[in-house]
Amino acid sequence: MGRRKGSSNNNKKSSNSSTTENSSPPNHLQVTADEDVEEISNLDNSTCDPTDDVIGSDKTSADYYFDSYSHFGIHEEMLKDTVRTKTYQNVIYQNKFLFKDKIVLDVGAGTGILSLFCAKAGAKHVYAVECSLMADMAKEIVQTNGFSDVITVLKGKVEEIELPVSHVDIIISEWMGYFLLFENMLNTVLYARDKWLINDGIVLPDKASLYLTAIEDAEYKDDKIEFWDNVYGFNMSCIKKQSMMEPLVDTVDPNQIVTNCQLLKTMDISKMAPGDASFTAPFKLVAERNDYIHALVAYFDVSFTKCHKITGFSTGPRSRSTHWKQTVLYLEDVLTICEGEAVVGNMTVAPSKNNPRDVDIMLKYSLNGQHCSVSRIQHYKMR
Ligand code: SAH
Repeated sequence: MGRRKGSSNNNKKSSNSSTTENSSPPNHLQVTADEDVEEISNLDNSTCDPTDDVIGSDKTSADYYFDSYSHFGIHEEMLKDTVRTKTYQNVIYQNKFLFKDKIVLDVGAGTGILSLFCAKAGAKHVYAVECSLMADMAKEIVQTNGFSDVITVLKGKVEEIELPVSHVDIIISEWMGYFLLFENMLNTVLYARDKWLINDGIVLPDKASLYLTAIEDAEYKDDKIEFWDNVYGFNMSCIKKQSMMEPLVDTVDPNQIVTNCQLLKTMDISKMAPGDASFTAPFKLVAERNDYIHALVAYFDVSFTKCHKITGFSTGPRSRSTHWKQTVLYLEDVLTICEGEAVVGNMTVAPSKNNPRDVDIMLKYSLNGQHCSVSRIQHYKMR
């Protein structure tokens, strides 16, 4: 059924590369995977220039390796995600009453786009905090657009900087990672909230929910997972185990969806404690037709409930696509499911102990059906 465009995980937040499809070879190394093609290489030596590695005048690839947000490419991708950026713009421009004469803190300002929206909407002052080298660009952008008197860009980590004011009225942030929680920037927002936000202050967005559904995905599972069983005649199935463990960030065709969509968890950003980002949630996915299930798919939505009219966006397969795509968790078993039967289980999500920016996921599932009876536990790691 539905073919998805191939890509690996970790494209956006915390990727080492600025490109969208960072699993693809560089342009000058487009190697074909088509077995029928005899050509051994289509390498174009004329474009294979070692100086291509120099991606900025005074920066080297090492600068970007640990800090992909310093490169403009990742910001370009986020800004061009119009579902994302337009929603923030609408929330701010259509709710000017929230911002008028208010002190705003922009947590992880990037290019400063959200701060600019807030300044234009009438905020009294905006503090834009950004830890990557992009803070220098944000300063210049603020100046070029004539907002230097309203926006102060502070370069540094939210956890380390000193704000010139003791309190703020509004915290705005775009902190969401793949699978909502990858990168764990939510903790930075909660830190800022507890340190600076006034008692009846608002956090934008203030609600985030994670959902789960199940899909038929034979073709793509074959391509991504079973592939390792026979690679040019060799058994590389030890890699198959690893590839099963890494959730795949990709776009799912809504026609692949076999069951209902189950809400796993809603987080209230204005009230939750940092520990609430670790949770175990039960699910029941009921088949809406006879089909096979190869994977579970997670996605999230966020909403701004303090607006005049509740506003938000979804990253689900039935909504307009965003750069977050969806997160696909392949199952060891192919589940033969009949309409009305249910895959039941629970999902445990927690930041990884070794690296709190990674997310550990444990999936327990079972199906007791007419043609299939399975019960299993699988572990995944977003990294
Ligand atoms: N607000 C921008 C950028 C969002 S991406 C926009 O909407 O386009 C998140 C940004 O937060 C990145 O630029 C990243 O460098 C920054 N960031 C992440 N953790 C941070 C921290 N602890 N302190 C300051 N900035 C942080």
